[in-house]
Amino acid sequence: MNRKKATIVTYGCQMNVNETAKMKKLLEENGYDIIDDIHNSDAVFLNTCTVRGGAAGKIEGKLGNLKTIKNSRNGNLIIGVTGCVAQEEKEHLLKRAPYIDIVLGNQNISQLPEIMEKILDGEIEHAVLTNNEDELPPRIDANFGDGITASVAINYGCNNFCTYCIVPYVRGRERSVPLEDIVADVRQYIKKGYKDILLLGQNVNSYGQDFTESSEIKFSKLLDEICKIDGDYWIRYVSPHPKDLTTDVLEIMAKYPEKIASNMHLPVQSGSTEILKKMNRKYTKENYLKLVDNIKDILPNISLTTDIIVGFPGETEENFLDTLDVVRKVQYENAYMFKYSIREGTPAATMEGQIPEDVKQERLLRLMEVQNESAKNISLSYVGKTVKVLVEGPSRRNEEKMTGRISENKVVIFKGDHSLKGTFVKVKIVTAKTWTLYGELV
Ligand code: SF4
Repeated sequence: MNRKKATIVTYGCQMNVNETAKMKKLLEENGYDIIDDIHNSDAVFLNTCTVRGGAAGKIEGKLGNLKTIKNSRNGNLIIGVTGCVAQEEKEHLLKRAPYIDIVLGNQNISQLPEIMEKILDGEIEHAVLTNNEDELPPRIDANFGDGITASVAINYGCNNFCTYCIVPYVRGRERSVPLEDIVADVRQYIKKGYKDILLLGQNVNSYGQDFTESSEIKFSKLLDEICKIDGDYWIRYVSPHPKDLTTDVLEIMAKYPEKIASNMHLPVQSGSTEILKKMNRKYTKENYLKLVDNIKDILPNISLTTDIIVGFPGETEENFLDTLDVVRKVQYENAYMFKYSIREGTPAATMEGQIPEDVKQERLLRLMEVQNESAKNISLSYVGKTVKVLVEGPSRRNEEKMTGRISENKVVIFKGDHSLKGTFVKVKIVTAKTWTLYGELV
C-alpha cells in the first residue's frame, strides 16, 4: 500500500514540540510519512500556540493557503488544527473556517488515527475534540526526529494564574504524570540513544503537589530517580517557578553534576516587587535575589537564564530600574525579553495604566543593552576552558564546522567530522562572541 504524506507545522513552546513528536509517531504508525511541504501532503496539521495575543490571526494566513490547496484538489486534503488555539476556540474555529476537518485539543492527540479514519471513510465530516482538559492525557510514544533530544512532559496545566498569561485557562489545572511512567519513558529514550532529556512542565517544580497528602514524591525525588538510570546523557528541565524552587532540588543538582545540566531557566518577569504583585507572581525582588544567592552558593557554576516582560501595565520608570538592577545583579547568560502585549481574556488586559508603545520599546532597548553586556562577559569567561559539548550536527553556515551545546546551554562551534553528531566531545574554547563560543576539538 502506498504511504501517504503529512506535514505538521509547529508554533510555540517546547510542550508543542513534544506534542508534535507524538503526532508524528501516531501518523507514521498509521501509514503516513512526515514531510515538510504542505503542497505535497495529504494531511496538514497546524499545532498552534496562543500565548501571544493575535495567535489566531497568525494561523489565519496559513489556513488561507491550505484552503486554496484544498480547493484546487477538489477537497482532497485533511486540514487539522491542534494545540492551544484549538483548545481555546473549539467549534468556533469551524464557524470561521468550515474547510478545517479536525480541531484537536491538547489532551486528545491519541484519538488522531481513529478520527482520520472516520473522516476518510466518510463516517463524519468534521471532528472537534477538546475535552478532558483537567485530566492526564494517555501516554503515547513520540518521534523526535534528530535522535539527540527527547522531551518528556512531567506535569500538565498550571494553577498560578499570572495575570498576563492565558495558559491556565487553556491547559487546565496542574496534574502530574506518575513517577514510574516518567522514569520508564526516560529509560527508553536513553536506551534508544537520546543524549539530551528535557523534562517539561508549565511549572516543573510543583511536580507531585497534586498527589495525595501523604505522598513524598516531589520534583527533587523525580530528578533523583531519573539520575539513577545508567547511561551517557544529561537532563534539563523547563521551567521552574521561583516561588516553588526549594533547596532539595538544588542539592540533587549538586549530587549529579554530570547528569543534570548546569543551567536553570528561572523566569523573573520583572525586578519590581510592585509589578510582580500585579503580575501575581507571588515573590518579591528581595526573595528572588535571595533565591539566586542560594542557587549560586550550592551550584557555583550554574548558568541562569530568564524571561522578562517590560512595560507591564502601571510600570513606572522606577519599577523598570528595579528590573535593570536585578539583571545587573544576577548576571544572566541569556534572557528572553519581551514588550508586554495585551492578551485578551487575562486580567492584565483590562488593567489601568497600559504603557505606550514607544515607552515599552525604549525600555526594551535599554534592557537589552544591559543584558547583552552580561551575556558577552560570561561568554568571554569561557575562553581558555575545556568544555563538554553535545554535538548537534554540522553548522548551518559552514559544513566543515560542527555545532553543539554545553551543559550551560551555550552554543559551541568547532571544526569536526559529521560522524560526531549525537556524541559528547571535549572542546577547548578559543574565542567567544556574545551568544556563541568557538573552539578546537581536544
Ligand atoms: S506560571 Fe504563570 S506564566 Fe507560567 S504558565 Fe502558569 S500562569 Fe502562565
